[in-house]
Amino acid sequence: MARASHPPHIHKFGGASLADAAGVRRAVEIVLAHRPARLVVVVSAMGGVTDALLEAARRATEGETSHVRTAAETLRAQHTRAARALVPAGERLNQLLAQVDAAVDELKPLGGGLGILRELTPRTIDYLVARGERLSALLFAAALEAAGWPVAYVDATEVVQTDGTFGNASPDLRRTERAARRVLSPLLARGTVPVIPGFLGATPDGQVATLGRGGSDLTATLLARVLGAREVSLWKDVPGLLTADPRIVPDARVVPQVHVREAAELAYYGAKVLHPRALIPVLKRPVAIRIRPFADPASLGTEISRRRTLEQYPVKALSAIPGQALLTVTGSGMLGVPGIAARTFAAVHHEGISVSLISQASSEHSICFSVPAESAQRARKSLEQTFEREIERQEIDGVELRSGLATLVVVGLGMAGTPGIAARVFSALAEAGINVIATAQGSSELNLSLVLDARDAAPAQRAVHLAFQLSKIGGGALAQPERTDVVLLGFGQIGRALAPMIAKVKRKEGGLTLRVVGLIDRSGLVFDARGLSPRRLATLAAAKAKRTPLAKAPGGRRASAGDAVAFVARHALANPILVDLTADDTTETLKAALAAGMHVVLANKRPVAADRRTYDALLAAAQACGRRVMLEATVGAGLPIIDTYRKLVESGDRVLKIEGCPSGTLGYVFGEMGRGAPFSAALRGAIAEGYPEPDPRDDLSGMDVARKALILGRLLGFGGELGDIAVESLVPDGAERLSVRDFLDTLERFDAAWAKRVATARARRGVLRYRAIVTRRRVRVGLVVVEASSPMASLNGTDNQFIFTTVRYKKNPLVITGPGAGPAVTAGGILNDVLQLAGA
Ligand code: ADP
Ligand code: ASP
Ligand code: MG
Repeated sequence: MARASHPPHIHKFGGASLADAAGVRRAVEIVLAHRPARLVVVVSAMGGVTDALLEAARRATEGETSHVRTAAETLRAQHTRAARALVPAGERLNQLLAQVDAAVDELKPLGGGLGILRELTPRTIDYLVARGERLSALLFAAALEAAGWPVAYVDATEVVQTDGTFGNASPDLRRTERAARRVLSPLLARGTVPVIPGFLGATPDGQVATLGRGGSDLTATLLARVLGAREVSLWKDVPGLLTADPRIVPDARVVPQVHVREAAELAYYGAKVLHPRALIPVLKRPVAIRIRPFADPASLGTEISRRRTLEQYPVKALSAIPGQALLTVTGSGMLGVPGIAARTFAAVHHEGISVSLISQASSEHSICFSVPAESAQRARKSLEQTFEREIERQEIDGVELRSGLATLVVVGLGMAGTPGIAARVFSALAEAGINVIATAQGSSELNLSLVLDARDAAPAQRAVHLAFQLSKIGGGALAQPERTDVVLLGFGQIGRALAPMIAKVKRKEGGLTLRVVGLIDRSGLVFDARGLSPRRLATLAAAKAKRTPLAKAPGGRRASAGDAVAFVARHALANPILVDLTADDTTETLKAALAAGMHVVLANKRPVAADRRTYDALLAAAQACGRRVMLEATVGAGLPIIDTYRKLVESGDRVLKIEGCPSGTLGYVFGEMGRGAPFSAALRGAIAEGYPEPDPRDDLSGMDVARKALILGRLLGFGGELGDIAVESLVPDGAERLSVRDFLDTLERFDAAWAKRVATARARRGVLRYRAIVTRRRVRVGLVVVEASSPMASLNGTDNQFIFTTVRYKKNPLVITGPGAGPAVTAGGILNDVLQLAGA
């Protein structure tokens, strides 16, 4: 059958993906989903293992044997736990556990030896770290076998042949090809899946050498080359090759396709997503490499191939190389003297230092080039020696060294054909107030490199990213309709009211699409990067209303709120928004969301009613990431209170005082009592309608009103804390200490006292209201009796009222009245914030 000549598909799984048993299981599922095609699996060490081994080796040479012991036990635990979870008890598991033990046990005497020798050679390091990949591949092979697939563990040294440079070996294509034919081809022909440790190869005399950090990528592309594969999938913890490192540019987007030369350039110049030399074996081959999101196997990620697409983007991506230094050789005696440049680079080459950027002014007055900071001193010394005579004769002034620099690299094939790209880069940097120290452009015009002060590297990437509108590349064309992806943190009553509203927002002409992509509750999350359908949302809401936690819902997974946000952030969402519908202290989660590039919409008052430092830090985090925090729904539910305030201020007015009844719950309870209902029945009625906070004592204690008043106060410039607000509590004595349950079960105890209060107010021809008065100086909240004829007395049901006294509205204040509690109106207020952020 023609299958015999079918080239295999190489799948490589990165360490971040193989963090634990669940990760390995998921990877196994991905492999199984690709059968019956011929497959080769390459794996990195489990997450953190390479770093842990390197650290242990370093500490061992410092004589810290106890560290080596603990590190060994941690590694044993990590692998043993995963093995037990993935492989059923029996002979196979025992064999695997013995392999783990052997690899770990060997560390201790090795550690001891290093402690005596106090020396760590690249060869020893390679021998030590190789076990990370080997264990991971053994584990993977056993797990795949347990899933019923014919597999064979093949050690990398049997296939990948190298030049033997420990720590940074280069593959030898011819010898690797021969070995691969001999070892792998027969396995593939039989339908067996070879599982091979990445990152490793054999030296000419058969020892193990590594290919440099991140080298498993290179193993995968090398095998693709020698086996004639057409497809390589590199499964990673990112949604694809992004326009920039997402940790630095939150707006970074997946590039659907890049040319292999562009990707090679990015990898070489610091984009950590690929090993710098990973693309060399396949540069001229018809291989499509995909960087694929491990978290979302259905997504295609980024294709790296020889096609040319996205031509409207002359610049496709950026990266930065940190830790650079610049050496400059200057002197009037250099003018027209041949060979200065050659001698300069020979001197650096002699030291084995690689130069990443060179620029020479055409006056030939100076040559400057960048080198890694750690080799800068060595390079300088070598140059000074080389030019000793010229320096003496003052033909060369000397060698200048400047460190603390970074190189910004702007990459795109389209730069070659489009004039003015460099100018756009420079003006974006100038506008951001960033100084360019040196620059170079390769003659391929594929890459523009700029040397900057290291501190400017991050803002420079953001500025250039913005200038080339790279955040729009994900959809392909600039004209693609924008999408906004919403994640709900909290799926209580308001969340369940909001989700269908978002799903129902009409698509504007060629414009907006709003989707709910994730729901998070205390148990975990349900997430689908393609959006949760209205039907799925309805089913989840129904289950949740019956108290089924999201983690237990179909497609749900367990996670803390922080982990859930981190998980969501790994996907390439469009204009992502996190809506906080909890009543918890979520500040840290929100900051993480902002840092991951999400906007935040709050219904939760706590993060903005927290202490001043926390509040300021949250707003500063938003500002630093260029994201927004919207909080309309924290005050007056859906009423436009904060919006009104903003509009007044924007139009030049000054708000002097905001006075009002910001509690829908208390309004409702007082209204019912005014009509003769006992307190217990009134409060239970409010709960049945979903008005109060989860613990109704937050409303009765006045704390909910105080928080709203503090939020308004902070708008007006009130510098105090929640504790500075005089709050009158309506929680009956002794009720503070009860559980919510016990409190609600014994509400009748408080009926008589409340009946008396209502009667007293009535005797004074007034009604009870819980009022807040907010100015810049002072914030007060408490119970008052207002005259029956006053506007406040006329409030109905859950009505809130806010009275703005401003410079313009002084005699006749501006009054906003309307329903101020309940899931539907609150969700409406939130939706308005979401729509604003979506640019509707
Ligand atoms: P692997 O699990 O395969 O070893 P890596 O950790 O080597 O994956 O690569 C993914 C990491 O690279 C991401 O965590 C991301 O922060 C970083 N990164 C830097 N630049 C980019 C970029 N342009 N696109 C995607 N990821 C990037
Ligand atoms: N485990 C090695 C590293 O962490 C190789 C790899 O992951 O590709 O660098
Ligand atoms: Mg890597």
